[in-house]
Parts: sequence; C-alpha cells; structure tokens
Amino acid sequence: MNEVPAALASSLVVRPVWRRFAPRFRELAIAFVQAGGFAAVVHSEDRVEALFMVGSDGALLPFAAWAMASIEHAEFTFHGDGSAAGLAFAFLDTDRSWTILDWCERDAVHPGPTRSMRLDCVACTACCQDADVVLDAHDLERFRSHGRGDLAEEGPVWRDAEGYLHLRFKAQRCEQLEPAGTCAIYALRPSSCRAFLPGSEPCLAAREDTLDVRDDTADANGSEDGSE
Ligand code: SF4
Ligand code: SF4
Repeated sequence: MNEVPAALASSLVVRPVWRRFAPRFRELAIAFVQAGGFAAVVHSEDRVEALFMVGSDGALLPFAAWAMASIEHAEFTFHGDGSAAGLAFAFLDTDRSWTILDWCERDAVHPGPTRSMRLDCVACTACCQDADVVLDAHDLERFRSHGRGDLAEEGPVWRDAEGYLHLRFKAQRCEQLEPAGTCAIYALRPSSCRAFLPGSEPCLAAREDTLDVRDDTADANGSEDGSE
C-alpha cells in the first residue's frame, strides 16, 4: 500500500528475479536461488516447481511469501541439507505454473538474480486503487484509540456478508487516498497497508493492472546489479 511519505517518496528496492530452468539444470537453478533469485524448474508448461531461499526458521522470506500469497499457494517443502540446503520447493498446479512462467517471461530482460528498481509510491498509488483492504481487530482498535472511531463505522467502511469490514473505495480509489498521492490516515493505516511490500509480486501486479507498467524493460526505472 501507499506507504512512503512524500519526503521519502522514491526508494530503491532490490527484488528477486524469476528465471526458468529445465530439470537437468537443477543445480544451476539452486545456485541462482542461492544468489538471491527465484527459480522455476519447468517439468512441463503446466507443472512448474518453484524454488526459494527460506529463513533460518524455515519460513519463507518476505518476497517469496508475497509471491506465494499472490497465487494463493501455501504448501512448500523445506530442504535442510545437501546442495539445496536452505531452499524451499513448491510444485504448482496449471494456473499457478502459467503465472510463474509469465513472471519468468517478464524478468527475462533482467540478467542477474536480483533486480534493482526505484519506486515512487506517492507518484504510483497503484495498490491504493482497485484493491480490497480488509480491516482486522487491531485496525479497529487503533482507529478508536486515536479518536477516529468513525473509521470503524459503516460509511468509511463497509461490511461484507460474512461480517468483515473493508475500507470503502470510490471510482476504484481508496477514499483515504489524497489527490497528491498521500494517505490521509497514514499514521493509522490498516495492517495490510503497513505490511504491503514494495517490489513484491502484488506490487508489480498492481502497477501492471492499474498503470499498465510492466517491469520488463531493463533500464525503465532501475539498474540490474543492485546499484543505483
Ligand atoms: S504498487 Fe508498489 S510502488 Fe505502487 S504505491 Fe504500492 S507499494 Fe508503492
Ligand atoms: S488506507 Fe487507503 S490510501 Fe491509505 S495506504 Fe491503505 S489503501 Fe492506501
């Protein structure tokens, strides 16, 4: 979500690059992931195995977690030894495989395992448009304890059939998104807005869907080696 205040509008993000590998090049795929990238081992066009690095606790690192969340896939296998030590593997079904291969196609222009890109959230605002922000109990408590109980009531929010509250959007823009691209409730913004990761797959998807900006140009907004 549009997290960066105007004074810090432009920030450098280094994200993993997706690359496809044939199964016989599995060791190269492992080395690519160990260098910071994401690998797709293509057993067939509709059966892809995704490879990631994981943290020392066995949990997915943030960019991997956001990538898997964006395709709603939560199952992976962690390998603790051998050449693949520290990596996780996830076999994906047809639709998810196609999505990963599209990410590989997008990233084919980026030569290294990581992609450095400069993002200006205030100029972008894509994730504050055409989105769905569900509020949790912490959000409601934060609003109320800071004198903005109105944000927890019908009007600024709406309730779905299951009882969950959502921020209201108008003309596909969050009603809290100001014309200048800043968030009117930045200090109180919902948990999901705080957690949103610039440069993650949901971020790239929002930019592509909302702004028609696809990160498939080598020098569009960043360099390829992690430098500015
Ligand atoms: S889509 Fe990404 S770059 Fe755009 S405002 Fe959201 S986090 Fe920032
Ligand atoms: S509350 Fe609305 S404007 Fe503010 S960060 Fe979240 S989606 Fe964006």
